Amino acid sequence: MVYKLKLINTLLFLTLLFLLGCSPGNKNNLVEFSGSTMGTTYSIKVIDENLFQSKLKKESLKSTIDSLLSGVNNQMSTWQKDSEITLFNASKNTDWFNVSNDFVYVIEEAQKISEASNGALDITVGQLVNLWGFGPTINDDNIPSDELLKKAKSLCNYKMILFDKEKASIRKELEDVYIDLSSIAKGFGVDKISNYIKGSGYNNFLVEIGGEVRASGKNHLNELWKIGISVPDGSFDIQKIISLDNAAVATSGDYRNYFEKNGIRYSHTIDPRTGRPINHSLASVSVVYDNCTAADGFATAIEVLGPEEGYKLALKEKLPVLLIVKTDKGFIEKMTPEFKKLFKN
Ligand code: ADP
Ligand code: MG
Repeated sequence: MVYKLKLINTLLFLTLLFLLGCSPGNKNNLVEFSGSTMGTTYSIKVIDENLFQSKLKKESLKSTIDSLLSGVNNQMSTWQKDSEITLFNASKNTDWFNVSNDFVYVIEEAQKISEASNGALDITVGQLVNLWGFGPTINDDNIPSDELLKKAKSLCNYKMILFDKEKASIRKELEDVYIDLSSIAKGFGVDKISNYIKGSGYNNFLVEIGGEVRASGKNHLNELWKIGISVPDGSFDIQKIISLDNAAVATSGDYRNYFEKNGIRYSHTIDPRTGRPINHSLASVSVVYDNCTAADGFATAIEVLGPEEGYKLALKEKLPVLLIVKTDKGFIEKMTPEFKKLFKN
């Protein structure tokens, strides 16, 4: 998925998670795994005495998790040559195209958020993402011509993707429509792993992929899991600590993945209305939701809309959301009423 600059920030995020998880308590039942996936890293904590004691069980859980994650990449990574998404994008056919159930589920969730956000989240943004140099195709110049932009923008409209859940198939109305699920696939990966761990009989765990998190039950101190939300400046500082009660949190920001040219910062978040990287003062958005797929999708949608419109969407959807906005005097926070109930600082 998205590789540039991401690792550094993921490491910062992980450091925060580890700091928060390392207070004294009963650590004799805390099992931790980590690895890499989707061009970033993942980390998982499971609280369970039996799992802690059995090396074999631990190894088998980790290996299943790794294979589930590579399954998600095989479905949704535009960076992988033979993934479902790459084959669909390469297809010059506008007939129904068979995909996995997971794939249709993610499309359906994304389309719901596109409707709710009036197209701010738009999975057909792929041609634009590539044009601005944030996709798998090489683009040395990075600033596309107006002509190329116009063409790519004409292919960006989520309504050109149709899905049939029963038949597990999708269809594009124009052959050059190119879909990109990077805004939501990490969140889906988190849900996929969480559901698997839960289904294996564990109730207390934390799953994180590249900063998107889902918590279940309690931590090793028998408290709700606490998550640090970073100050969006690439530092180690924590802006807010929230407790997650069987919920997920996803963060989108303009500080993790971007390039700079002539003093201008170009973010990897594209506004489908302009076809250009967002250009506003919203530095970071964190969305809490009961599942991480929707949290991830809404975080991107709100990041596209910016501090005012994004806040309105969060209010309309009654979402717990923290916005961190850049001002001349530094960062300021904007919280929805639902978010205020969560944080402890
Ligand atoms: P992060 O990976 O930093 O958590 P996001 O979840 O916001 O970021 O996903 C950003 C990625 O989604 C971009 O790299 C791009 O591939 C894709 N994208 C960019 N703009 C949009 C958009 N408006 N709608 C859907 N996907 C987008
Ligand atoms: Mg997202």
